[in-house]
Amino acid sequence: MPHQEPHDRQPLRMGERGKSGNGVEGGGWFHDYRSTGSPAPQQDRLWTSFAPVAGKPRCDSVREKQEVSMSSPASRTATRQIGDAEVTILTDGRTEFGPELFPGTPEERISAVLSAQQVEAIATNFNAVLIRNGGKTILCDAGPRDLFGPTCGFLPQAMEEAGVSADQVGVLFATHLHPDHVAGMITQSGEAVFPAAELVVTREEHAFWSDAAKTDAAPAPLPDWGRLARAVLAAYGDRLRLIEAGGEIAPGLTSMPLAGHTPGHGGWRLSSGAGHLIHGGDIIHAPALQAADPDIGIAFDMDMDTARATRKRLLDELATEGALFTGGHFLHPAFHVAVRDGAGYRLERP
Ligand SMILES: [Zn+2]
Repeated sequence: MPHQEPHDRQPLRMGERGKSGNGVEGGGWFHDYRSTGSPAPQQDRLWTSFAPVAGKPRCDSVREKQEVSMSSPASRTATRQIGDAEVTILTDGRTEFGPELFPGTPEERISAVLSAQQVEAIATNFNAVLIRNGGKTILCDAGPRDLFGPTCGFLPQAMEEAGVSADQVGVLFATHLHPDHVAGMITQSGEAVFPAAELVVTREEHAFWSDAAKTDAAPAPLPDWGRLARAVLAAYGDRLRLIEAGGEIAPGLTSMPLAGHTPGHGGWRLSSGAGHLIHGGDIIHAPALQAADPDIGIAFDMDMDTARATRKRLLDELATEGALFTGGHFLHPAFHVAVRDGAGYRLERP
């Protein structure tokens, strides 16, 4: 089971644990989510690990020339028709991962994988997915809001570009309850951003994050992430729908357990007519590295070995099926197929 020993190692090296000046354990970025003022003064504790690598060209400035800056990109959306469903990837923001987020993988290996793709940085996006299908408006994940620095938090703009308002969202699905997926579901004062939406979460994911004893016993930043997750669950308290792993999110949209990242982490499969789309959640968290070499694990995986096995199985299935897929952190425009390439895979945009 992926969550039996969530803290038998300390993969989430987000900086040293400590007490911030106001006594909020784990730093200030989190406690600010309830304030109404300016961004959290100490959000750099989280942001540090996501911070752009100074002086390095951005991966997506090379590969996505139209996306020069997330504050004024050409587009924050990419839309495809999947059968009768219209699917729009909403890019909330972007950042770059440092090599220290891949414990167990030597930096030379990371450099080699990147340079083989003529990529110079481990760029990543934060994506939500809008699905309009059968009269329902479904949103998968909601970005980190203002918690991860100034290059993120543009979900509202992406939704506006897609022509959907927050009150039109009827179903809100969380692939998992990490802050970069759920912070955007509540305001800084803890109110639901999507007033008409039911929040759908897997039973296993809910069980872990709603238990303060579990998250408080885990290494930083999990205690803070737990408090944020519980604030989100509370905001949708009377509109929370728990499903089993593999259960139905909405008609035609089925959750897909992908063990290892968090206890109840999962993606989904959308089927409409002859069209199919897979969402891999965060099991391929840094596409440039983890598709090319699925053995490369990321520190955010609570069980890196299980996540590695899940990643290998998923990529094998995707390549075998030739299936169209996306994920929580794929680069714009985010629809891919996996093609076998040596011991790993190459992501192609069909
Ligand atoms: Zn994520």
